[in-house]
Amino acid sequence: MSTISNHLPTAELQALDAAHHMHPFTTNDDLTAKGVRVIARAKGVYLTDTDGNEILDAMAGLWCVNLGYGRPEMGQVAARQMNELPYYNTFFQTTHVPGIALAKELADLAPGDLNHVFFAGSGSEANDTNLRMVRTYWAELGKPEKSHVISRKNAYHGSSMGSGSLGGMTYIHEQGGMPIPGIHHIGQPDWWSEGGDMTREDFGLARARELEEKILELGAENVAAFIGEPVQGAGGVIIPPSTYWPEIQRICRKHDVLLIADEVICGFGRTGNWFGAQTFDIIPDIMTVAKGLSSGYAPIGASIVNDKVAKVINACEFSHGYTYSGHPVCAAVALENLRIMHEENMLDHIRNVAAPALQNALSALEDHPLVGETARSGMMASIALTPHKESRAAFASPKGDVGYMCREHCFANNLVMRHVGDRMVISPPLVITPEEIEVFATRARKALDATYADLK
Ligand code: PLP
Repeated sequence: MSTISNHLPTAELQALDAAHHMHPFTTNDDLTAKGVRVIARAKGVYLTDTDGNEILDAMAGLWCVNLGYGRPEMGQVAARQMNELPYYNTFFQTTHVPGIALAKELADLAPGDLNHVFFAGSGSEANDTNLRMVRTYWAELGKPEKSHVISRKNAYHGSSMGSGSLGGMTYIHEQGGMPIPGIHHIGQPDWWSEGGDMTREDFGLARARELEEKILELGAENVAAFIGEPVQGAGGVIIPPSTYWPEIQRICRKHDVLLIADEVICGFGRTGNWFGAQTFDIIPDIMTVAKGLSSGYAPIGASIVNDKVAKVINACEFSHGYTYSGHPVCAAVALENLRIMHEENMLDHIRNVAAPALQNALSALEDHPLVGETARSGMMASIALTPHKESRAAFASPKGDVGYMCREHCFANNLVMRHVGDRMVISPPLVITPEEIEVFATRARKALDATYADLK
């Protein structure tokens, strides 16, 4: 029986953590001297650490705690489901009610004829499913060579071998032999950093047309699918020009290439609609979902698949699945999350209250000498830091140093705001109030001021 609890002194918890706990995306040795932050509890948009600091979480954990922390209904539903049916699998011709109900709910919510759901335990797993599913789809249609998948540089689709290969982050590819063969990356629609003298609209079209060039280079008969996040999240909240997605969809349809929208961050209200695909007016063949599906209260992901693809996959034995595909407790928690979103008219709150307040806060920060642009889609946003606004210049210091400094000042001011390179990213719980957004803005400005002072 473990005697380790919140009541131990923070230093003792930190030492135990450093001795035994390997953290994701972390140089663990650095934590030995620095000491990891230990989060004890959370309520609404605030985290409390073991030193009693109340930290405003402007990242909703990892872009996922959309309902905010500490919703008792979610715990009650999980406990009820654990007592009734804690586990059964969905292999071998069996199912259970939470799995049936969640699949139906997702089919009803998704646009177009995305009527079929394959469950996974996470976004990475769901994207691995997609990779195998699109290749299997074309193989079943007698075209096994139509197997290449095109993605974008600086995309994030997970960190397993399949999903990490689909992603376009070179620092991930450098470890463990990625990308696996048959995956290609074209340029991202990041006008601020890469658009040069082009207008946003022209740049959006130019980047979309890289897809057509890549399809023609590989031969359309060899290309299975294109995958993209409606708004790149982990890449820095890169909001594509309005011309980008319609052109991508046109090219996919013209060349008979399946379109996968990775909605792991964008799904469930984050961009102001149920799905980012709706915000950008496209209808993909497959959508990846996770994170906001359960507001992060339980690990669950899924691929939502249209009639065309499901017809082929359902006719064969797709030899794929996870022990926890459609886990009944996770499915029940996800259903409760969606019920609360409907009951509380979350989309109305985002569109009419939270997003306008966030926009005001961001606009007010634009006068800060370090702030180049602010960008926002619904409740995901970013602040580009720059030494020179007009030329959209990058800092001379290694990319990310200034962003890292700003992130550390945020922590010191009890604010969680992440950095991606020298872009600060924001994705608070969707339930955040205008008053809480004011707290965010005050703490963010303090962090920016302190960063600016350090640079002098
Ligand atoms: N896809 C996107 C767009 C993501 O942002 C993430 C995680 O951040 C993933 C996939 C991977 O999801 P998970 O961490 O649940 O495996």
